[in-house]
Amino acid sequence: MAKKQRPKYIFVVGGVMSSVGKGVAAASIGKVLQSRGYRVANLKADMYVNLDAGTIRPAEHGEVFVGEDGIEADQDLGNYERFTNQVSTAADYITTGQVYAEVIRRERNLEYGGEDVEVYPDIPKEIIRRIEQCQKKNKSEITIIEYGGTVGEYQLLPFLEAARMMKARNPEGVYFVLVSYLPMPALLGEQKSKPTQQAIINLHSAGINPDFVICRSELPATPDIKRTISNVCSLPVERIVSAPDVYSIYDIPVSFENQNFGATLLQAMGLKAKKRDLRDWLALADKIRKTKKQVKIGIVGKYFNLKSCKDTYISVIESINHAAWSEGRRANIVWLEAEKYEKDRRKIKELDVFDGIIVPGGFGARGTEGMILAANYARLNKIPYFGLCLGMQIMTISYARNMAGLKRANSTEFDANTPHPVIATMEDQVEKIKNKDYGATMRLGAYPCVLKNRSIAAQAYGKKQISERHRHRYEVNNDYVERLEKAGLVFSGKYQSGNLMEISELPKEVHPFYLGTQFHPEFKSRPLDPHPLFIEFIKAAIG
Ligand code: GLN
Repeated sequence: MAKKQRPKYIFVVGGVMSSVGKGVAAASIGKVLQSRGYRVANLKADMYVNLDAGTIRPAEHGEVFVGEDGIEADQDLGNYERFTNQVSTAADYITTGQVYAEVIRRERNLEYGGEDVEVYPDIPKEIIRRIEQCQKKNKSEITIIEYGGTVGEYQLLPFLEAARMMKARNPEGVYFVLVSYLPMPALLGEQKSKPTQQAIINLHSAGINPDFVICRSELPATPDIKRTISNVCSLPVERIVSAPDVYSIYDIPVSFENQNFGATLLQAMGLKAKKRDLRDWLALADKIRKTKKQVKIGIVGKYFNLKSCKDTYISVIESINHAAWSEGRRANIVWLEAEKYEKDRRKIKELDVFDGIIVPGGFGARGTEGMILAANYARLNKIPYFGLCLGMQIMTISYARNMAGLKRANSTEFDANTPHPVIATMEDQVEKIKNKDYGATMRLGAYPCVLKNRSIAAQAYGKKQISERHRHRYEVNNDYVERLEKAGLVFSGKYQSGNLMEISELPKEVHPFYLGTQFHPEFKSRPLDPHPLFIEFIKAAIG
């Protein structure tokens, strides 16, 4: 039997600037190594003091991704899941806040035996403990640790120190990949490597030399640039990997493999480059590039103000894409600001041009009246409608108002004094809200759900028992279920032990697709395994 290898660790750090696709690069490294027969784990470490991403505004930080166990994490965990098809848990996500909270907890318990507790080395040591815990939990042969932010940031220092300490203890076990950006100023028309050189020098000052540099840029890195960068970090030029803009993010593992990155990386780590199996993925990337016919989807929401909606709704966008590709279409997604329908009701007619409408998750009252109008319009005009969490609550309110005679129906989240709280909090939440106990107290993570025979949901899933991930404080109010059912709304999914309504829908005879889920199906869609409800929605949109 072959000698058991000690686990390997790859740190992925960013240079020059953030938002150049470090998460997708880390996910793609995972994918490429996995395709060579290695068991991988992807971990994200974020520099903020928040204990998790649950309290961060999505327009600021991007989507809050929810793991099976209910961890509210950075959106990159979604990329990892979509690329490696592995399920994330709290073990795969570290923040500065978690690290400090644990060190302080231990200090209060006298676990430091009377010593003073120092930022160095106690904070890096706790970071290392968490990284190793992730490895153990996942039993990974290779653990890929992505650091948020970019080198040179003050808050990254304890994390870099943790990585340096691991490398010093175990030189054969720890490797560094710098994901850097090569700007190409229009005025010059050529790539510049200086900022990347600076990033390397910054890494050097933390006692780290990269083993690989991935160069993000509009175009492939030129041989000249590669040579310059390889000189700065004394690396063979094959260790400088080019990552130009690609047609879809799913092309990135393909682009890496075209440069033989997987094999070079394994060789650098002293591991065998086993035979590669990337067939499905290559076929997918090819299909994506060839798909030309469109399906037009409107997303009615409200987090469109600050940064790009691409980050805010990334799992929703990807789920639409996965389902559309599998049905031979390219999704053309348009952002529709819900508030404009409140200001001018005639604008709602713009929904006519869409093959399907989605109302995604969200919090707070702003825009909800516009969403309720959109849900009603989609129902009346037989436009396929898919409601995700908030979107399910919206369609339920809209149905109550327009079909069940509950004119002022609402959610207590949007109107605390509504006479008809068709959406309301559960008892245990009331106390939490009163005490402002907001962090990680929603209904979170995976719950089982039983589907009603012959419902659209049951037909889509092809089974009766499912499990999906949640993140919400409000639920359909059971006091209104009978009345809504009498009016024609079907509650086709139920969390039985909690007696909670998880899916509402209208029968096919009434509407081509009018369905909402209290859970977030978007967290479980994969490019090679699109989510059944998204497929059903896209089919209706095409049909
Ligand atoms: N705001 C709603 C709730 O808390 C919906 C949450 C969501 O869409 N994730 O129940």
